[in-house]
This record gives sequence, structure tokens and C-alpha cells, in this order.
Amino acid sequence: MTASPFRFNNTYARELQGFYAPAQPASVPAPSLLFFNQALALDLGLDPQVLNGPEGAAIFAGNQVPEGAEPLAQAYAGHQFGGFSPQLGDGRALLLGEVTDPSGRHRDLMLKGSGRTPFSRGGDGKAAVGPMLREVLIGEAMHALGIPTTRALAVAGTGEAVYRERRLPGAVLTRVAASHLRVGTFEFFAARGDINRVRQLADYAIARHDPDLAGTSNRYLALLRRVAQRQAALIAQWMNVGFIHGVMNTDNMTISGETIDYGPCAFMEAYDPRAVFSSIDQGGRYAYGNQPLIARWNLARLAETLLPLIAEGEDKEAAANAVARATEVIDAFPGWYATALLDGQRAKLGLQGGDETADRALAEKWLALLHEHRVDFTLGWRRLADAAGGDDAPLRSLFPHPEAPDAWLARWRSRLEGEGEQALDGMERAERMRRVNPVVIPRNHRVEEALAAASDQADLVPFQRLLSAIRRPYDETPDHAEYTEPARAEVTACYQTFCGT
Ligand code: AMP
Ligand code: MG
Repeated sequence: MTASPFRFNNTYARELQGFYAPAQPASVPAPSLLFFNQALALDLGLDPQVLNGPEGAAIFAGNQVPEGAEPLAQAYAGHQFGGFSPQLGDGRALLLGEVTDPSGRHRDLMLKGSGRTPFSRGGDGKAAVGPMLREVLIGEAMHALGIPTTRALAVAGTGEAVYRERRLPGAVLTRVAASHLRVGTFEFFAARGDINRVRQLADYAIARHDPDLAGTSNRYLALLRRVAQRQAALIAQWMNVGFIHGVMNTDNMTISGETIDYGPCAFMEAYDPRAVFSSIDQGGRYAYGNQPLIARWNLARLAETLLPLIAEGEDKEAAANAVARATEVIDAFPGWYATALLDGQRAKLGLQGGDETADRALAEKWLALLHEHRVDFTLGWRRLADAAGGDDAPLRSLFPHPEAPDAWLARWRSRLEGEGEQALDGMERAERMRRVNPVVIPRNHRVEEALAAASDQADLVPFQRLLSAIRRPYDETPDHAEYTEPARAEVTACYQTFCGT
């Protein structure tokens, strides 16, 4: 027997007994590697030579459990579309174990689509090729855009069909995450009144994500604050690239601050804050513009689970006012979010620090302009960089009437002039702006095209080409041209993403 390709150190399995159900992945008939993430493997200190071949295929399909892995299905609950489900859990996923990368970062390796678990309820525990490759594309895009995210290490085809609305080829995704702790993990134990387990979980989360808080007297309140701050920064980043998660249920919100669970998600094209793509989101609860509100709502659910712990703190005054102190954190969220959003917008607008109120108004006016004229969100920002370099034509051509942005451009330019000594030369500003305003995003029609080819024709070429483009989102090169164009308006108008579970 060869040495395990992973040096596992499974803290969750060891320290959180009672928080999961051990389970084994299902065997599948014909494992094959559809995707292997070389860069991420190297990042994790893994050997691509071993994993990017038949042994990897067997491991990533679930047929071979690597030595040192302790596969388990995590328990969690969650508020889904506002309603509470006390028992969700990993119904088709297994935490294989945890590894520490060469830089000391500790990460989860999880199989998704690896068969039934004690949490499967009516589900088959399986996943299809299309949705798993979608997780690859969106996760890699988010990563390339500098947005915290779980990532795919591999996707293995299973050689087995799964049955959704139709028969589809099956696949298993291997997902890497800072952890899979969710708001819903806390809700699971809080809903059962198991304060001791909530405390144990909170201390585990602190050890993993906020080790500087370990042992401090107000640590549960501080944990809540950290999670809220991470989420404020994360959602601001989503908003600044036009990302719509689609299912911001509390079980899909991490404690780590990474984006997780790319189901019916999408990048917005024509700017509209009400944009919603998910076929299951009838009421528009998770529309683009609602995301910061929903994040806060989810954090309030996390706060509720922590209240008993906050109330038993050593700081008597804080304890007596647990509800007020937790509420303070939740109420601070919009301010943290607004600051993070404006920081990002300033960079995108080519501005350095200045008057907050005026800059916020300038950014809002810009967005209102994009909205009014249905301008493509990504290209609007990108062409603003050209305008900073002195060429307004590409930006003006995005509007139905080329003069539409002129008044705003004049206002923006006078703001730029006001930068005084800090003022950048136009070309330098344009370059900086191009480093924060992507030109390649995983456009919905391109994603669908790539997934359809992979799923229906077993043709991975469109997927691979799209993947290599979205990994260089700021490069405007000729080979990227086909990925920068929005879909025709008719296509976008009808675009819907499906859960695909
Ligand atoms: P999601 O919508 O992917 O966030 O999943 C919500 C819940 O449904 C989680 O508990 C999943 O584990 C579970 N689930 C989703 N798809 C399946 C499936 N095919 N089989 C079993 N459980 C599933
Ligand atoms: Mg989920």
C-alpha cells in the first residue's frame, strides 16, 4: 500500500463527536476525472502526479477512501426562504477530512454527490455533471476576482446516471473550504436547546477562524462580530461584481466568510437591483439588491443561537445585556457593509479617499444611470476605465443614446480633479481601474453552453476554454473577446437558474 496522498488532521471528527454521522461514500461504476485543479492542489501541498490520474479518479469519485480520511456527514439545520428546517445536514456530501497546507492554513476536503447519508431524507445523495462543473466555474471565477470562496479540487464522473427532470450523467465534486461551519450548524443545536453543544461548536469555530479570541471573556459576542464583519466584506464584494448567490439560506452562509454552495447563482448582466434568476425564488427574497438585508437577517439568526452563551459571559454587565449587545452587532452590520461597499466602489471609480457622502452619492448616481439605461454591469465599469484613460467612446456606446452618461462623467471628472496632490495621471488611473473592474465574468449563457456540452455531449472543451478565460478576469486579450459580450437581451430576459440538486 502506498502512503496516503493526504496528511489528514481531522479536528472535526475528533473534537466534535455528536455533531455528525460517520458514513462511507457510495461506490460508482466508472470513475473518471473530468476536472482537476492543479493550482489548488499545489497550494494545498498535494502531489498532482498522484492525484491527477486513476488513483485521483478513484478517490474523488468516492471509490477509494484515502488512508487517514474519516468520512462523515455534518449535522446542520437552516432557515430556507425564511422558514426553519430543524434538520438538514449533509444529505449528499461527506467531509473526508482536513489538511494543513504548506503555509499553515487548515482546510476541509469534502465530497459532494457521494451518495446517501443519514441526512439524505428523500434525496438520492447524488449530483450531476452540470451543477458540479458549475461549482468549479463560479468558484474559480470568484477566487480569481479575489472573493473569498470554497473551491473545487476535482470533479469525477461516476459512469452512472442520476435522475432529475431527465436522465443526467453523474459526478462527484471535491470541495475545499476553510471550514464547512454554517450559521445552520449553530441553529441545529440551538433549536434542540443543547447549549453545551452550541458552546463547544462556538469554541471550535473560534479555534479555527478567530484563534486570537480563544479564552477571552466576551468571546461569543466577539465571534458574532467577526462573522458579521466577514460577511459584510463578502457581500460588498459580491455586490461590486454583480454576483447573485440565489439561495442565501442560513445553511448556505459560512462562519469563515467564504462564499459557499453555488446552486442557482448568476452574475448580473444589465444592471437591475431587483434581478433574480433562481427558478425557486418566486418572491425575489434573494434578489441582487436584497443580499445585504438577507445577510443581516441570517446573522440575527446566528445571534439568537449565541445569546445564552453571551448571557453567561464573565463580564457581568455585558451578560445582563446580552440581547442589547448582540443587537448592537446586528445593527452595526449595515454600516460595516456600507463602508466595505464604498471602499470597493471607490477603487472601481478610480477614486482615492475623499468625502464619503459625496462619493457615495456619486457611486449611487452611476448605478442609477446603469439601471435607467439597462447597461451591462461588468462592461459599464470596465469601460469607465477607458474613460479614465481619455476615451469615452467605448462607454458611451453601451448606452442607447451616447450622450446619456455625459453629465455624470463631467461630475466624476470634477471629483477626480479634486484629488489634488493625490491625483493620478489618467493612464495610470485607467490601469488601476482595470485591475479592479473585470472584463471576463462567467456569463450565464457561456456557463450554460459549457455545461450543456459537458453534460450532453461529454465535450469538455467549452468548459476548459471558459475556465481558462475566467481565471484571468482582468485581461482584455483577443482570445477573451467572445467571453466579454453579454447575451442577447432576449436570452437574458428569460434566463433562469435551477437548483439542479
Ligand atoms: P442545498 O440546496 O444544496 O443547499 O441543499 C439543501 C439540503 O438538501 C442539504 O441538507 C443537502 O444536503 C440536501 N440535498 C440536496 N440535494 C440532495 C440530494 N440529491 N440527496 C440528498 N440530499 C440532498
Ligand atoms: Mg447548501
